[in-house]
Amino acid sequence: MKNRRAFIKTASIFGIAMPLASCHSNSNTNNQKSQEGVKPIIISTWEHGLDANKVGFEILKNGGSAIDAVEKGVVVVENDPTNQTVGIGGFPDRDGNVTLDACIMKGDGGCGSVAFLQEIKNPISVARKVMEETPHIMLVGSGAKKFALEQGFKTENLLTEQTKKDYLEWLETENYSPEINIENHDTISTLALDANGKIAGACTTSGAAWKMHGRVGDSPLIGAGLFVDEEAGAAAATGLGEAVIRTAGSAMVVEAMRNGLSPYDACKEVVDRIRKKHATLKDLQVGFVALDMKGNYGAYSIHPGFNYAIGTINGHTLFDAKSMF
Ligand code: ASP
Repeated sequence: MKNRRAFIKTASIFGIAMPLASCHSNSNTNNQKSQEGVKPIIISTWEHGLDANKVGFEILKNGGSAIDAVEKGVVVVENDPTNQTVGIGGFPDRDGNVTLDACIMKGDGGCGSVAFLQEIKNPISVARKVMEETPHIMLVGSGAKKFALEQGFKTENLLTEQTKKDYLEWLETENYSPEINIENHDTISTLALDANGKIAGACTTSGAAWKMHGRVGDSPLIGAGLFVDEEAGAAAATGLGEAVIRTAGSAMVVEAMRNGLSPYDACKEVVDRIRKKHATLKDLQVGFVALDMKGNYGAYSIHPGFNYAIGTINGHTLFDAKSMF
């Protein structure tokens, strides 16, 4: 099963099980710190980021915009029914509903977001429409779906046979307990800097598996799951959304870059802060990717197992992020 990872489940103060990603055998184990900048460049979370980057980089290579590259890139992952953490095929909530969260942002502050969206498989494109076609930034639930339909998006069943099977199995083993057990933590976040020096980011997820109905994580929240500012750079998160929201994670990474830190050091500073704030949550996993306006990039996570993909004119590579432990 593509992108499926085993996680250690433990209780937490959130009542949410904390994941620890297993190691990825096919990443470059070079444990990258910040790298020298090139332009254009695209960076995405996790192994599925390679698929997103390939499509996104084609756009960048042909002189296309960063905003097109990040949107069209993550759509590839949203459309993959075998990916159980994003778009169609994403794990449902504890009531069996697939609910999707996404946001998109440009360097000039333009942004759009949707949360708790059901039956529409490309929330990132709906988020872009919110940015471009409305005076608002965020639409949720039935309002977001109504808007999507008005914009020509089609409804479809997002619960695949496989995911339904996994859900029914979960119901048996977990006995529908009030604990939320996250089995997967693989939001796709993509950041890009285009040949014209414009920067953008996109973040899209089905959120925590077996979450409470109505739960929204960090991924659609501007400043938490994603933040982009052309005066400093861009950052995006993956991991336990509650911890990222509590610390305004991605905005803090961008602020750290604004204050002169490299993308790697900025990610590390915020990961250290998150870890400190949640010191009792031994298995808490959060990771960030960041990109500055020169095309320097970096990533960092609390635990090993987080990897990220880079696409440049030199090719596409998957790296293991450095981690605290
Ligand atoms: N951050 C996401 C959430 O909490 C989960 C993930 O990274 O996969 O909804």
